[in-house]
Amino acid sequence: MSATTPGMVCAHHHLYSALARGMPPPPGTPHDFGEILELIWWRLDRALDLEMIRWSAKLGALEALEQGTTAIIDHHESPNAIEGSLSVIAEACAEVGVRVVCAYGVTDRHGPEGAERGLEENRRFLTEGGRGLVGVHATFTCTDQTLEAAAGLAAEMDVGVHIHVCEGPQDADAPDRLAALTRDDWVLAHGVHLPTDADLAGTIVHNPRSNLNNSVGYARPMRFDNPVAIGSDGIGAAMLDEFRMAYLCHRADDVTATPEAAWCWLKTGRELVPETVNDRVTWTYDPMDPWHIVFTPGIRPRQVVVDDEVVFDDGAPTRVDADEIRAKAAEQARRLHARL
Ligand SMILES: [Zn+2]
Repeated sequence: MSATTPGMVCAHHHLYSALARGMPPPPGTPHDFGEILELIWWRLDRALDLEMIRWSAKLGALEALEQGTTAIIDHHESPNAIEGSLSVIAEACAEVGVRVVCAYGVTDRHGPEGAERGLEENRRFLTEGGRGLVGVHATFTCTDQTLEAAAGLAAEMDVGVHIHVCEGPQDADAPDRLAALTRDDWVLAHGVHLPTDADLAGTIVHNPRSNLNNSVGYARPMRFDNPVAIGSDGIGAAMLDEFRMAYLCHRADDVTATPEAAWCWLKTGRELVPETVNDRVTWTYDPMDPWHIVFTPGIRPRQVVVDDEVVFDDGAPTRVDADEIRAKAAEQARRLHARL
């Protein structure tokens, strides 16, 4: 038996995380979310070069396709390989046959010059016709001037901003600093510590598994009036798994919760990449109903059709060689880990 649905959307991803698995342990044990960023992710992103970015994106796109995910909203940072990075990611995903919405996460962590180069990469990519949003890391690593420049560039290019908002407690002033800037086309990742009455515009992307892993708390997405979508925050793009996790977190917090809420969040992702409505994923399970799926682990796609082309069939991608991508990505992961 099998059933068909539109493509799944991962509404907040970091494709470069595909090479992080198995990385050497950090120099010390992180004791909070800020230390997790400093000791793990900010060391990793500084070590990335374009070749690593290329193969991490191919591996991430392949793994998305293998889970029926046909679109990724990516948030990228590589402070020592900024220029051209978004095009490398876009090309890698196109080769595999997965849609991607790119953004370079602007930050003042590397000084005003670093922020300027990040903004310029967003501008270059969008001006050349790339599908993207203007990326911002988070308010707590940006000056007001950088936030305003990013919001201005997004408005000029008629796209939204993709930004982390209140993932941890250190981002407490984000609602005030963003109040006059956000628009409905912004993508606000996390919102765990976002006050319910914050009144920011945009889609809030809930990342249940990442939030558990970083021990930052539960976002309680039901409390927001904003649209809510689901992301992985870099832990693959298995959106049925994220849906199950979103349901379980909701249910752990409220025993009256039903899977329909998390199912709606999953569908909201498609509004951010509307073409996915026409993508077709034929699954190993029927019916693809939220009450079935939450209690049925291991559902996989049999076939994935993107833009009328079969890009995944019978357990394998049709455009690329999965073994080759895994081997090349493993080679780049070794290079990356050696730099840490
Ligand atoms: Zn993130």
